[in-house]
Parts: sequence; structure tokens; C-alpha cells
Amino acid sequence: MKTMQCKDLGGTCDEKLSAGSWDEMVQTMTKHVMQEHPDVAKQMEAMHNDDPQKWGKEMKPKWEAAPES
Ligand SMILES: [Zn+2]
Repeated sequence: MKTMQCKDLGGTCDEKLSAGSWDEMVQTMTKHVMQEHPDVAKQMEAMHNDDPQKWGKEMKPKWEAAPES
């Protein structure tokens, strides 16, 4: 398991999100953002439509750097 904060992943709060894999973290973050930050969700959707790889390219290194817990 690794734990990251919402704001590490492009969000705006410091809620801790935990996941066992990067794919799981993407799902957890997507769900969190849609529930808590609809404005951020819209920005992420626009980013995704523009370049589907961009968010992952920016965020995955942070996931990889996060300590295993
Ligand atoms: Zn958040």
C-alpha cells in the first residue's frame, strides 16, 4: 500500500488516499475528485481530452516515489 495526498495528484485538499497499485490509485483519486472537487474533475477531464497521457505522466513518478507502507 502507498498513501498520497489529494494535492499530490492534482487535487486541492490534503486528504490521504491509499491504494495497492497505481491503477487503484487512479480510480480512488478519480472517485474522490468527482465527489469532493467537481471543478478539479472538470479540469482533469479537459486535460484528459486534450492529452490522455498527460496526467499519468505527471503523477505516476510521484506515486513511484511515495514510500511503501
Ligand atoms: Zn481532495
